[in-house]
Amino acid sequence: MSHKLQIGEMKASYITDQEIWSHFTYIFSSKSRNSTTYKFVLIKSIIENLYNVNEELEIHYFNLFKSFTKIYWNLVIHHKLNQINMMGKQAEVQKILLDFQAKYGIDSSFVFDKLSNEMQLNIIMKVMKRCKINVMGAVYGDTAGSIYDFDNKKETLRLNASFFTFMQRFQKILMYLTNYQLALFLEKFNINGDTKGMLIKVENVSKRSSLNQFYEVLASYFTGTCFYCGMAIRSRNAAHVDHFIPWSFVQADQLWNLVISCNACNLSKSDKLASESYLSVLIDRNHEFVRMQQVQEREDMKVYSATKLQSLYHYSFENGYSTIWVPKSS
Ligand SMILES: [Zn+2]
Repeated sequence: MSHKLQIGEMKASYITDQEIWSHFTYIFSSKSRNSTTYKFVLIKSIIENLYNVNEELEIHYFNLFKSFTKIYWNLVIHHKLNQINMMGKQAEVQKILLDFQAKYGIDSSFVFDKLSNEMQLNIIMKVMKRCKINVMGAVYGDTAGSIYDFDNKKETLRLNASFFTFMQRFQKILMYLTNYQLALFLEKFNINGDTKGMLIKVENVSKRSSLNQFYEVLASYFTGTCFYCGMAIRSRNAAHVDHFIPWSFVQADQLWNLVISCNACNLSKSDKLASESYLSVLIDRNHEFVRMQQVQEREDMKVYSATKLQSLYHYSFENGYSTIWVPKSS
């Protein structure tokens, strides 16, 4: 049984777009064994961590399972949604989360971000320990070991280089596809629970409720002016933490992609890409960041490079973020 594998080796060095599309078609078809939502949530977690890869294109399980746990917490605890195709049963991940919730008496209104750092860490480790056995081998088996390899002892997943490029090029459409399939499954196997507006729930399940923790770090480098228009920002309330590459594309919060902006710029930029001149400014800002000891030790900064940010900019443009925004007052 491939899903019980501890180690999976890469079976192909180069795969074509067509081969990758056919793998996705298979995973999302009734031919693939999808008794739980694991495969969909794993793919969603990989997409969220596409820019957390190191130079070997490896994603550490901790980052992967941080996404995985957050998604499941919000689906299972916050929205009370069943994750298995049998009514009255629970997927392993559901049991872990519900036990945890009961043990600590956590109210269902709590989204993952509202849990303390210590609790988050605790639950991520529990989910990772139990779920890696079932989850990593499943998609690996479906794709004949061609899109990634993994090592459950080393706790890393390594993407095939051609698959990595493919994911970046078609990131947006793959996110739509995965969210749709996940919503479809959840609608089918939930009678009770929070099924109204399922696709919107699934699309927003990873969204962070507050970027306050990033503000604290950004503020240490903050010059008191808006990153985009340069206007003075006089109070904390007037300062917004903005995703330079829109969140709807990256689906993640990394310090190197966050800036402080004024209210007006934050609102008018919204889901758009800022002009390329701001990309250079951000690269310079990040260059300063990696020299600051307290910032360079952060996990998100460890995998940062200017090239990565440039390619993210390029791929977001290719994925449909082609309306270029500039601040009104500049
Ligand atoms: Zn501004």
